[in-house]
Amino acid sequence: MKAITVNTPEATMALGKALAPFLSPEDLILLDGDLGAGKTTFTKGLAAGLGIKCNVKSPTFTIIREYQDGRLPLYHMDAYRLDDGSGDELGLDEYFNGDGVNVVEWSKFVEDELPDNYLRIIFKRNDDQGDNSRTLTFDPHGAHFQKILSESIDLDDK
Ligand code: ADP
Ligand code: MG
Repeated sequence: MKAITVNTPEATMALGKALAPFLSPEDLILLDGDLGAGKTTFTKGLAAGLGIKCNVKSPTFTIIREYQDGRLPLYHMDAYRLDDGSGDELGLDEYFNGDGVNVVEWSKFVEDELPDNYLRIIFKRNDDQGDNSRTLTFDPHGAHFQKILSESIDLDDK
């Protein structure tokens, strides 16, 4: 696993932006970690990197927000309020096998629906350090994301 510590929201966004050019349809990125850890902030950067100009807002209440004005469609999901098993009804499978990039916050609520290949990023607030720093740990599942990680963001081995 590889980790990186960033000190500002802008730096978190820059990581998302750096990842975006390497993404292709059907890619799935899971963003996990506490409320306020920076998952949506990262997604804003990723969207900007895809050339999306719309303002990315948290899909907490809508569960899915779709952005179609970039290099690839972006499907941004927040599974926190999904009832057990309703990922199925939502047609997650079609999104995951679809034409765009999928970003899922709170993936533990759709654990049963996940395909074999994805990039999990775990966000941690370093509150004990009394600053705004966040540590992002990148955990690629499958060769596709291992390759992307080796090429895209300069990360430290941990
Ligand atoms: P989440 O989606 O994980 O609940 P958000 O990205 O919505 O988190 O919120 C993160 C909040 O923390 C924002 O208000 C953001 O400005 C603030 N913040 C402070 N420092 C950072 C940082 N280094 N990275 C990301 N967000 C940060
Ligand atoms: Mg969020």
